[in-house]
Parts: sequence; structure tokens; C-alpha cells
Amino acid sequence: MTTVPDITIIGGGIIGMLTAREFHSAGAQVVLLEKQQVGQESSWAGGGILMPLYPWRQEAAISVLVKQSLALYPSLALALHTATEIDPEWNPCGLLLTQNPDYELAQAWCEMYQMPYQAADEASLASLPTATVLNQPLWMPTVAQIRNPRLVKSLRQDLLNKGVRIIEHCDLYEVITTQQQVQLLITSKGNFAVKEVIITAGAWTQKLLHTVLPRAQVHPIIQPVKGQMLLFDAKPDTLTKIILAGEHYLIPRRDGKILAGSTVEHHGFEKYTTDAAKQTLYNFALNLLPELCHYPVLSQWAGLRPGTNTGVPYIGRHPEFSNLSINAGHFRNGLVMGPASAQLLCAILSNQLTLINPEPYQITSQRCL
Ligand SMILES: Cc1cc2nc3c(=O)[nH]c(=O)nc-3n(C[C@H](O)[C@H](O)[C@H](O)COP(=O)(O)OP(=O)(O)OC[C@H]3O[C@@H](n4cnc5c(N)ncnc54)[C@H](O)[C@@H]3O)c2cc1C
Repeated sequence: MTTVPDITIIGGGIIGMLTAREFHSAGAQVVLLEKQQVGQESSWAGGGILMPLYPWRQEAAISVLVKQSLALYPSLALALHTATEIDPEWNPCGLLLTQNPDYELAQAWCEMYQMPYQAADEASLASLPTATVLNQPLWMPTVAQIRNPRLVKSLRQDLLNKGVRIIEHCDLYEVITTQQQVQLLITSKGNFAVKEVIITAGAWTQKLLHTVLPRAQVHPIIQPVKGQMLLFDAKPDTLTKIILAGEHYLIPRRDGKILAGSTVEHHGFEKYTTDAAKQTLYNFALNLLPELCHYPVLSQWAGLRPGTNTGVPYIGRHPEFSNLSINAGHFRNGLVMGPASAQLLCAILSNQLTLINPEPYQITSQRCL
């Protein structure tokens, strides 16, 4: 007879896997259910910049999670590499911001969150063509990136090594509740009795909760926001730092490949790519780095970000079901907020003091439908 796990997690993106890892480290028996293969949705499609774009224009609740995650990333990446022999390529390559009209805000944010910065000098601007539009450019030398497709691969392997049960191709479509408690999950791979359930279904979270708990009064508001990317097959050292120019960016990987991203589109759950986005990203990339014309575009893809109005995720217990929690809605910053989000939820469910004030992330009727 199989025992009922302490924690059952629905959705195996970066958030589900980091949450599983955190609860396993705290001594819980964890099962992770994923409707396809883990780590193949937004967490695979993202760029892996470990810094929100213009964080000083966003809610402080985002920066608080970012700061804590940034402290966790070097040891997380090292531990995953050592345990799985898959290097997630944490790389503090720095970020150059070419246009920064709100320089004072940026400066105040960097001071507050102890993020090294300097006005970009000739050396940091050297790789840019002279025609590049500059507006109070800022150089942030310690901003890092993670190679997210490798991160999710190494996380999957690490969880399996640790004995976490991952059940793939397991689509949750019904939930049996009694007295405001989740009792049973009905899935395409059979029924699962549960103790604690955590929904980490990214962009599908709101839709899933509507389907499986139609009588709930409170549902987090999370909508899919499509992002398209291009990948150039360039040579190593063609570009050595991340460049953010307006709404788009270039990210150089260690093997030379360069990502150009991204679009922000509201087309429901459609993930098709478009020629228009390809042209926009291609033109942007070549304007910023003309030598990219010598390198082929290797691929174009789209992912669905779990979009919320403010970008602040929902982390905490569902107010109507005593054993149901949510960790979702990380919008454009799930990779950079993930480690701290997982820690926060684990502390909340373990009734421990949390390092971060949990209030801004709570699932309350004011924030929900
Ligand atoms: C183009 C692009 C660029 C980005 N760049 C960055 C960046 O540079 N830095 C950064 O920090 N973030 C970035 N992001 C955002 C980041 O990728 C997301 O915030 C993050 O991946 C969300 O993780 P998640 O685990 O919540 O969602 P996902 O990775 O989408 O995982 C959710 C999982 O739930 C599963 N699921 C859904 N329904 C069910 C069900 N019924 N039963 C079982 N499983 C289910 C899905 O199959 C999926 O695997 C980017 C995103 C995109 C698209």
C-alpha cells in the first residue's frame, strides 16, 4: 500500500520543482504531478536574467524576493551542478542598461538593495555601435544569468536523486473536497489521496482552480502572457554581458549563443510564433550588435508567463481550503524570484518565522476574483 505523501505539488515548472526541493529539505515526503514533462513551459522558455527589468518601476514586494533569491542562487547552482553533473550556468556576466531616464530612481533602488552599479563608462559601452541610443546608461556589474533549460534539467535530476516522486503526463482535472479540505485528486494517471496540496501551475493556475474548485469564492487572477524569443548561433565572446535597451534585451550564453527577447502579448493560451515578432527581435538584435548578421537564427519560440496585474506572485494558503496552498503568478520574474518564493511558502506551512513579510503575497479576496 502506498503511503499518502506529506506534500503533493501540482505543476512542475521552476516554481513547482524549487518548492518540492525546499519541502524535501525540510524533511517532508513530496510528490510532484505534472501534466506534460517537468520544466518544458515558461521555465524553459524564459531568458534567465536574474534581475527584473527596471525593478525600481515595480512593486517593492518583487525586489524583496529578488534580493533573497540572489543570495541563494550561487550555492543552489553549485549544489545542482555537483549533484547532477548538469551545470545550470549561473554566470555573473553583468547587465548594461542603455536607456535609463529614471536614473535617480535606479540609483536609490541599487543603494537600497545593495546592488553594485555605476554610470556606464567608455569601457562598458565599447561593444555598442556608435549609433546606439544612450540615455544615462547604467552598468550593473554583478547581475547574473542562469541558463534556465539547464536549470530545470538539473533540478529534475536532483529531485529524482533525492527520492522525490515525479509523475509526468499526469493532468489534474478534478478535486474531491469535504468540509473545506481537499481529500482526493483525480488525474489522468489515477486518484491521489493527499495531506497538503500546493498549486504551482504557472499560467494555468487560475484556469485550473476554476475547473477543479468551481464553487470557491476566491481565485487568484493569473493570465497567460506570451513572450517570444530568438536564438542566434554566435561564436563565444561575441557578446559578454547582458544588454537591456528599452523593452528588449540580448543575453549571451557561455557557448556563444545569444538570445534576443522578448515580446509581451495577450493571446490566451496560444503559443504560436509569428514572423512579425521574429522581424522585430531580429532588427533589434542587429541594431545593437551588427555582427549578428553573420550568424544564423537557430530557433524562435514562445512561452506563457503567469501574468498578474502587478507582477507580485500569490504565495500562501488558500483562504477557503485548510490544506490547499498556491505558489504562482511570478509573471516576468519567476526564475529570479523562485528560490525565495519556495523558501517563503515552506516557512509559512511549517509555521516558522518567515524571513520575508508574507503579507503582500497572500491570497486574499481583495487581490482575487
Ligand atoms: C520569453 C520569456 C522570457 C522570460 N525571461 C525571464 C527572465 O529573464 N528572468 C526571470 O526571472 N523570468 C523570466 N521569465 C518568466 C519565467 O519564465 C516565469 O515566471 C516562470 O517560468 C514561471 O514558472 P512556473 O513554474 O510558475 O510556470 P511554468 O514553468 O509554466 O510551469 C507550470 C507547470 O504547470 C503544469 N501544469 C499546468 N496545468 C497542470 C495540471 N492541470 N496538472 C498538472 N500540471 C499542470 C504545466 O505543464 C507547467 O509545466 C520569462 C518568461 C518568458 C516566457
